[in-house]
Amino acid sequence: MPPCAQPDAAGFFGRFGGSFISETLAGAVNELHRAYLRYRDDADFVAEFRDELADYVGRPSPVYHARRLSDETGGAQIFLKREDLNHTGAHKINNVIGQAMLARRMGKRRIIAETGAGQHGVATATICARYGLECVIYMGSEDIRRQHPNVQRMQLLGATVVPVESGSRTLKDAMNEAMRDWVAHVDNTFYLIGTVAGMHPYPMMVRDFQTVIGKECLEQMPALFRRRQMLKQHPDAIVACVGGGSNAIGIFHPYIGHEGVRLIGVEAAGFGLDSGKHAASIQRGSAGVLHGNRTLILQDDNGQVLETHSISAGLDYPGVGPEHAWLHEIGRAEYVGVTDAEAVDAFHRLSRVEGIIPALEASHAVAHAIKLAREMSREQAILVNLSGRGDKDMDTVLAHDCSRAGGVA
Ligand SMILES: *Cc1c(COP(=O)(O)O)cnc(C)c1O
Repeated sequence: MPPCAQPDAAGFFGRFGGSFISETLAGAVNELHRAYLRYRDDADFVAEFRDELADYVGRPSPVYHARRLSDETGGAQIFLKREDLNHTGAHKINNVIGQAMLARRMGKRRIIAETGAGQHGVATATICARYGLECVIYMGSEDIRRQHPNVQRMQLLGATVVPVESGSRTLKDAMNEAMRDWVAHVDNTFYLIGTVAGMHPYPMMVRDFQTVIGKECLEQMPALFRRRQMLKQHPDAIVACVGGGSNAIGIFHPYIGHEGVRLIGVEAAGFGLDSGKHAASIQRGSAGVLHGNRTLILQDDNGQVLETHSISAGLDYPGVGPEHAWLHEIGRAEYVGVTDAEAVDAFHRLSRVEGIIPALEASHAVAHAIKLAREMSREQAILVNLSGRGDKDMDTVLAHDCSRAGGVA
């Protein structure tokens, strides 16, 4: 099977993926799987998804040639896919629309989700408001404390935020609680996952919804190159940050068959890949089962999932989508790390040089693109997925700058 035709019928990407779930969930997962296969090529479904993305999200998002950044860096031309311009300010909305449309067709009027930083919770609450669906968001009580503005946003949009007090009171505990809720309310409830993780068919389904990003680039890039008299159809490299991996797979996937295009995923290296304080599941993880699929996860010798660290809440996830684990294994995509400090530098740089304030997650991709551009020639091109805007990160960046300056001002 060619790499772009994965997963297999059981949801495996090589040895990763699949569906490792309790018997109590099997019925719900099968029902979802059947519904997805029925609707994904359905003409009405496809047309409605396209219209929602155009009218509600504002797609297609442009690709922007960051000319000043490229000139200042010296080397390859850097282009930005502007997912930050979407309604709600990131790529997550693409996927939640697709899943909410599916929920409606399945007759499920109650949506549940878990959220760590709150961004997936906000996207889910947004679409539930749009479609008049009940919305219940599970969130660790520690995360509720850390991410209060997002909790207020979800409540403003009409969602119920349920604090989770078990374990470390963070994302992985909220994930368990959401799955428990699903088992208890399968009849009327749809479990809306925010990244390319979870049991089959979620990694495939979320990917399919997010590939709108890469498909648009396939159309946009040749025209952009022509206007600049650059003799090429495709960028030489595509760079995207990887938390669970949905924005990255969304831009990578349509290019997998274009072998000349390097695909580079950037993981959060936190304080450094060897510091023990990072979220680099691919580069420092090992195979295990998390969230219903086999993938690379950060775990100790006893298989206990480790706490992760990243300055960007959206990359702070102890696993990665199984398709990335597999693309890494077969060598079709490369994965690198960018530290907190490097990401903050890129955050400032893009803000100052291009007038675009990137999300801290996306700043990781920008930081790597800057490094990479220096090793390439002016005729070459790097396409960066600018997954979101950075307004939400102002306080974090200012606090980081203060502590680095050693001051309290
Ligand atoms: C959530 C988020 C991410 C990380 O999620 P992926 O599934 O890896 O894309 C990256 N960027 C932004 C702006 C986010 O909100």
